[in-house]
Amino acid sequence: MTQRSVLPFGRTEVSSEELEQLIDKEEAAIQAEKGEVENAVQQVEDFVDSVPDLLKWLEQQGRKYPWRATNDPWKVYLAEILLQRTRGDAVEKMYSDVVQRFPNPEALDEASEEEIKELVHSLGFVNHRQKTLKEVGSIFTEQFNGEVPDSVEELKKPWRVGDYSARATQLFARGRSMALVDANFARVIGRVFDYEMPQQPHKSKDVYALLEALTPDEPDVARSFNLAILDLGALVCTPDDPDCESCPISSACHYYQSTRMEGN
Ligand code: SF4
Repeated sequence: MTQRSVLPFGRTEVSSEELEQLIDKEEAAIQAEKGEVENAVQQVEDFVDSVPDLLKWLEQQGRKYPWRATNDPWKVYLAEILLQRTRGDAVEKMYSDVVQRFPNPEALDEASEEEIKELVHSLGFVNHRQKTLKEVGSIFTEQFNGEVPDSVEELKKPWRVGDYSARATQLFARGRSMALVDANFARVIGRVFDYEMPQQPHKSKDVYALLEALTPDEPDVARSFNLAILDLGALVCTPDDPDCESCPISSACHYYQSTRMEGN
């Protein structure tokens, strides 16, 4: 069943007591131990305690992109394709043009390669993106009656559409509580838990299992939780220069605690 979320961020006021019911802490600790996290039970406990502050931070600092203001699976899916290997700010500049020009899969199916390339050229990876978009148009039109399919596996049918885009569509458009894994998630969770991330975290069953256990089992909170980690990774917990002093989850972060101790 599709659930309409509170837009743009989902529910951002959640108590620790509620999170106790929504997050599988026991499973999260088991998965964290597999990733060689020390004191996994306490680490998970501390992280869950910090989530209410993380969600409050999202409400104040989260990015209000236009694709976060809709539950329409087509608009959300299209945004996820445009966001592949691309910054949100770049996609924001041309997103409304693309949505207007391609209001449904049929419109994309009927468009010429040149027209698609011209619309998306500012994002780079033009040939790749064009090929993916063309397949999205033709596969959804021919195999799904012009609708956006309703399963992760089917959403991954077009060329180079992976788990992240498919799962993000199910989570953000259809209110399915599911975990996302990309570079931002891997960095934030890796630092907070001192979790040994594999080379390709988005292909790791163990990383997914940890994130699945940590993701609150309620669609509007799963939405806010995932958006919060995503935005924290993009705005605060950046690859080279994390701004730990203004981070809402620093009290639960192994990286912060250890760098602070080194500085003393
Ligand atoms: S405290 Fe620093 S390292 Fe830890 S999550 Fe926040 S920004 Fe990232």
